[in-house]
Amino acid sequence: KDLYAPERTNSHGFDLKDPVDVATYEQLRAPFQATQWETGPILAEAAGGEAAEPVHNPADPSDVVGTLRSCSKADVETALRLAKPWAASPNQRAETLKQAADLYETCAGEIFAVLAREAGKTPTDAIAELREAVDFLRYYAAGTSELDAPARGVFSCISPWNFPLAIFTGQIAAALAAGNGVLAKPAEPTGLIAGLAVQLLHRAGVPKTALQLVPGAGSVVGARITASPDVHGICFTGSTATAKSIHRTMIDHCEPTAPLIAETGGLNAMIVDSTALPEQAIKDIVASAFQSAGQRCSALRILYLQDDVADTFLDMLFGAMDELVIGNPWHLSTDVGPIINQAARAGILNHIEKAEASGAVLKRNNAPSTGIFVAPTVIKVGGIADLEEEIFGPVLHVATFKAADLQDVIKDINASGYGLTFGIHSRIDDRVQLLSSEIEAGNIYVNRNQIGAIVGSQPFGGEGLSGTGPKAGGPNYVARFTRPERTISQL
Ligand code: GLU
Repeated sequence: KDLYAPERTNSHGFDLKDPVDVATYEQLRAPFQATQWETGPILAEAAGGEAAEPVHNPADPSDVVGTLRSCSKADVETALRLAKPWAASPNQRAETLKQAADLYETCAGEIFAVLAREAGKTPTDAIAELREAVDFLRYYAAGTSELDAPARGVFSCISPWNFPLAIFTGQIAAALAAGNGVLAKPAEPTGLIAGLAVQLLHRAGVPKTALQLVPGAGSVVGARITASPDVHGICFTGSTATAKSIHRTMIDHCEPTAPLIAETGGLNAMIVDSTALPEQAIKDIVASAFQSAGQRCSALRILYLQDDVADTFLDMLFGAMDELVIGNPWHLSTDVGPIINQAARAGILNHIEKAEASGAVLKRNNAPSTGIFVAPTVIKVGGIADLEEEIFGPVLHVATFKAADLQDVIKDINASGYGLTFGIHSRIDDRVQLLSSEIEAGNIYVNRNQIGAIVGSQPFGGEGLSGTGPKAGGPNYVARFTRPERTISQL
């Protein structure tokens, strides 16, 4: 149930613990095991596009998933020229977005297959991702009834490869719900799923002038669609550094009131004290740090273990890590899939190798030798101040603390400047309350894992360096895509 549309419920999705759902899941996905998709610019008139480039499965270099054409510079100009707000009533927009949600569900099998083969999504992740995309469509559709302010005009939506369907769809759905036109630029590694999504949105009835797909490099397409007076707002999810550079570009080129809605990185901590339930805590640490191969901004990066239980918890953690299956995400048994591309892998390995050289690696699993994998790894650190940047992969840093020093830990975590997610495992109520009120983080999770925020009930977004707000999947999000209402006062 959600905050402003209590009659709306989240999508049911598929339950991998239910044998009937598992059979349906496999049956729906099977026809797309070798399909090759083709995508390029999808504009309101015919587009040229650059030469088609093959898209490879990151888990299996022999699997070509299809081809992707980037926009040429001329295509981007065409898209900017043709983009228009969506001239339909709020009710029509809501109905169209709900129709799109239904189409996404109808095409679940194809979507799961692209998510696995292009983006490396395990079954658990692919199911959650489709469900979140559908929830965003229905949630923001419900939000149109709350709106009495006009659309801003045209939004550039720039989305990440780690949620190539959910966040891609969420940004677009919110901008469209408010009546804007959208230029959607997917992350470079995940253009095929974006192409499929845009086709479904068009099929549901979103006009082509209101939604155009502009795939291509950040330096070409992204740079152009963030530097135009014809763009009235930007929605971005990705690194903090890119968000800052977009902001600078907007100041120079866009109208002065154009908003930047940015969801960025995090250095997310979890504090586990000596009263935590060990089995539960270990399960939640493993999910938070290693699910999606750690490629979530919400993922756990630094675990603080109370010193008197640290050795026991670490032994249990390493045992649990030995049970993880790392491999091709097509298989139902896979827990940890691939890293998105070679460049990302090289960055993560560089970090691990430096830690190895200083003797700080406590545990490193084995990873398959073909495909782009990094094995889940645990690195010992003194505290969060030792982390220079977000390492976007299955790498967990561990520090220990003494109960008497908890205030210092809180201070250090807040001093990182990031504030996305934070986890607590403790059975002391006062401590849970203290940490929840003093740690500066947008999403705080108690005695559970710290990933996978649910649309409507857990609006997602960070503080400080982690984002601008409003929170995605929350009641204030769509309104940020509108202009302030006019006030007319007459005597
Ligand atoms: N909303 C996702 C979660 O709660 C994370 C989004 C992201 O990684 O950008 O896990």
